[in-house]
Amino acid sequence: MAYKITLILGDGIGPEVIQAAKRCIEATGVKVVWEEVFAGQVAQDKYGEILPKNVLESIKKNKVALKGPIITPIGEGFRSVNVAIRQALDLYACVRPAKSYPGVKSPYKDIDLVIIRENSEDLYSGIEFEEGNPKTKELIVKIEELSLRKIRQDSGISIKPISKYASERIVRFAFEYAIKYRRKKVTVVHKANIMKFTDGLFLKTAAEVARDYSDKVIFEEAIVDNMAMQLVQKPQNYDILVLPNLYGDIISDLCAGLVGGLGVAPGANIGRDMAVFEAVHGAAPKYKGRNLVNPTAMILSGVLMLRYIKEDRAADNLESAVKEVLAEGKSVTYDLKPDRNDPTAVGTQEMADVIIEKVKD
Ligand code: NAD
Repeated sequence: MAYKITLILGDGIGPEVIQAAKRCIEATGVKVVWEEVFAGQVAQDKYGEILPKNVLESIKKNKVALKGPIITPIGEGFRSVNVAIRQALDLYACVRPAKSYPGVKSPYKDIDLVIIRENSEDLYSGIEFEEGNPKTKELIVKIEELSLRKIRQDSGISIKPISKYASERIVRFAFEYAIKYRRKKVTVVHKANIMKFTDGLFLKTAAEVARDYSDKVIFEEAIVDNMAMQLVQKPQNYDILVLPNLYGDIISDLCAGLVGGLGVAPGANIGRDMAVFEAVHGAAPKYKGRNLVNPTAMILSGVLMLRYIKEDRAADNLESAVKEVLAEGKSVTYDLKPDRNDPTAVGTQEMADVIIEKVKD
């Protein structure tokens, strides 16, 4: 039986890396009927809407989607479609593995981390009050009255809600993930020494959940700034990290950097009964349509997708093929060559072709 999977090409380099990943997934022999839908700038140009209704409907129906990156203008214009999809479908767990692959340039070896980021609240909940707006002034008066603290009148305000409910489910997700993939340790990352009622709640809830798993998985906690330093000094000491939304975003990019950069960093957004798989990188508009960028992150996101639909053999085959091609270092894109101007670098689709040959071997 074929799987029906939603395919969102995305903006910028999205269509190229999605095309490469789609071909690699098909090469594993897993049968997929792709339902192609449009979101982002491309949907805006086509239908006058950045997130047409049929995108969410398709994901809700198929339960699984493979998604290319979508641009978000900074400061003004539309809010992030990526965040909107995660929120609308309650894809509360963002899973970003950071793994060393021989052949990928990095000062580190043997890193095998999984970053699990809470995806539904924190400073990403989009509750913001603009500087100068009458509602903001009203809010400042109210906060000063309730907190007995002063806020500068010319402030903008972003709200950081962290709930017990969302903290519990993300930490439980991290422990369940640890058990499923036979991992040993979960480290909860926070800034509870400063934000006692938000990060403090996240930490307290995590410690409570950890008790249910104390005989199977080690539980540790770390303050986010210290964690950033520890990751640079001794990344091999860590296994699974679970974090609130904002720290998760930052630390997962840091970890992508530890293992060779955005070109090799896959990701998944997982909810109760559906999931969207996408690379950590964005739409890199300056590379659009040039068949230059690295398809690895998107292909490895496809590997995560295959594991999610329980096609473990296909996932293992595809990951091994990617690993071999990276280790050989021959048929790889410019960013994976020691010299980025190396004329032997291949294009996005050509790298996918070599991976496909290995999958079929
Ligand atoms: P980006 O990840 O798009 O690109 C930054 C740089 O990283 C690129 O210039 C390139 O040098 C490198 N890079 C990225 N992907 C690569 C690949 N596959 N192979 C080789 N090199 C690669 O980040 P940005 O420039 O901050 O964002 C561009 C747009 O993408 C923005 O509009 C942003 O909002 C959006 N974005 C979307 C997502 C998403 O859809 N989930 C994630 C991040 C950024």
